[in-house]
Amino acid sequence: MNAPALQTILIAPVGDFDPALLAAVGRGIERVFRTAVRVETILPDLAFAFDPTRRQYHSTAILKALAASAPPDAFKLLALVRVDLFIPILTHVYGEAQLGGSACVLSIHRLNCVPGARGGAEGACLRIVKEALHELGHTFGLRHCPDPACLMHYCRSEQDVDRKSDAPCRYCRVLLEDALRGTAAACRAGRDG
Ligand SMILES: [Zn+2]
Ligand SMILES: [Zn+2]
Repeated sequence: MNAPALQTILIAPVGDFDPALLAAVGRGIERVFRTAVRVETILPDLAFAFDPTRRQYHSTAILKALAASAPPDAFKLLALVRVDLFIPILTHVYGEAQLGGSACVLSIHRLNCVPGARGGAEGACLRIVKEALHELGHTFGLRHCPDPACLMHYCRSEQDVDRKSDAPCRYCRVLLEDALRGTAAACRAGRDG
């Protein structure tokens, strides 16, 4: 029997999301990472990650639960959540990723319609796609990039997100191509062996 392809990036929404938004994230993934994409619910709720003192959800706990529940064909998993996320040293984070690992999470909580940021559902969708691709970029080993127009630039505000593009810069693209070649080689080896 053939082993699964291990080349699918899984979008794992927690709660209800606009299908048009999930489709836009999926198209972005196909464009930047050139892999298959699938949407599947992995985590039915996030109560396990809730911090009652901060009234926010601990993103690292979500990453652990997500990675532990990965279906065999999914080599990267992106949880999309609506709740506000934190890590202990910061007031909030848009998302978090395992650098060079399998799991990442993005919250739409602060990227949705924001005063002073590009307006409407279209602006929100663009921001969410950019930051979803950014978190997935980390799972391919990409670190933060000083180029403010690069997908891998670290954004401190929604306006910063609006200013950057939805693609990696030339430098990050080279690193990503190396990572993608490594993934393809590992999958071929997996099928042969
Ligand atoms: Zn980042
Ligand atoms: Zn870059």
